[in-house]
Amino acid sequence: MPTLSFGDIRKYEGCPHAYRLSAMSDDWRISLRDCLDVSIHRMMAHANSRRVMGHPITSAEALAMFREEWDACMEDVYAGEGQDIAEFYRKGEICARKFAEFAGNSDGRDIIAFDIRGVQSLPRGRSARISIDEIYRRGDSAVLCRYITDETGLRKDLAEDLEARVSALWATYSLQGTDRIVLQWRYLLTGDETECPVRKQSMGEAAEKLSEEIAAIESDPDYPPVLGEGCSECPHRNRCRHYLSSINGRESMPQEEIESLVEEYSDLDEKIAALRQRMEMLQSRRDTVKAKIVAYADSTRCDMVDGRDATIGIRRYKKANLPKDKTAVIKRLKETGQYDSISMVNYSRLRSDIAKGIADPVIAKMAEITYDVRMTLTRKRRSDRKSTRVAPTRAEHTITWAPMITLRTARG
Ligand code: SF4
Repeated sequence: MPTLSFGDIRKYEGCPHAYRLSAMSDDWRISLRDCLDVSIHRMMAHANSRRVMGHPITSAEALAMFREEWDACMEDVYAGEGQDIAEFYRKGEICARKFAEFAGNSDGRDIIAFDIRGVQSLPRGRSARISIDEIYRRGDSAVLCRYITDETGLRKDLAEDLEARVSALWATYSLQGTDRIVLQWRYLLTGDETECPVRKQSMGEAAEKLSEEIAAIESDPDYPPVLGEGCSECPHRNRCRHYLSSINGRESMPQEEIESLVEEYSDLDEKIAALRQRMEMLQSRRDTVKAKIVAYADSTRCDMVDGRDATIGIRRYKKANLPKDKTAVIKRLKETGQYDSISMVNYSRLRSDIAKGIADPVIAKMAEITYDVRMTLTRKRRSDRKSTRVAPTRAEHTITWAPMITLRTARG
């Protein structure tokens, strides 16, 4: 019997067909909302691992951690139609700051456990995956804290929440000496919080009810689609035949033509990959030959080597390699007033910030926004099913050469 998470159950409640597609597919896709939630929760796990070691977390550190996690999660995002990435990013920043504020009220020594993942057994042999953001001690109580990243309003019926009560059940069995359990929700977008104690009987009732809900999901013969507004944000819509057939524009291109285009793209992609591999081999061979010619030139103390049809000139020049950790270099540059005149702006980061809508608005206005398309090809009928990310065409043809040997034909 599969073990369901509360995320699965929420997905089923939103659209049973979406749940079915996410459970059956190995193509991992998340919505922007999920991206915000996952990156904030990863940031919190990272921050809490420092807090329990006695390092308080500042707002700036929380923001930096969030940004890193956000960038990683964005790789898996399938954004909804008309959704603004910058809007979600800004919400993430608010959540990160608010978390740092909540965390600032404790030195971390009260935390019993954090970023908890567990499995709770339910009646009739079923089980559910639970996750708890933090459990901390307050007097003789253990507080099970969940951080909310969406716009859910303050709830008064926390004591009725199935997820909270089943998580509390897990805590009573898994943590020693927890007689009194308090459920707490903290809303990161508003800074509100609500809490209530939970009784053992209520936990048992929740487990019973959850088992029934899981049974209903497992026995669903159809997993019917729920076509509606949610489809435009659904990360599975490209594989949902109900959604695709509901779009008129889809009829303008027959299925065979679409399949043929995908087939052609796959072939081209494979050929480009083979060419890249061949190029790497040629470059490696060229480096070996180059080393031999330079060794010969060194032994004869000549800077020109003649071949049958070409002459190679050898020019030596100095190349400065700075240390990987540039802290000392930057410190010295700042001390001597050279920093402002020679330091480089991180343009790739700036470009990324402008595209996300989080850069300085004055600089953003100076940039010209163009649109490019990245395609991700997933091979079928392969056991490893690796994804090949294909960079935008412009980048594919940008090769920087750093020749140390100049080649000139004897005839030329
Ligand atoms: S596109 Fe709509 S109908 Fe299809 S799985 Fe997603 S939410 Fe359900």
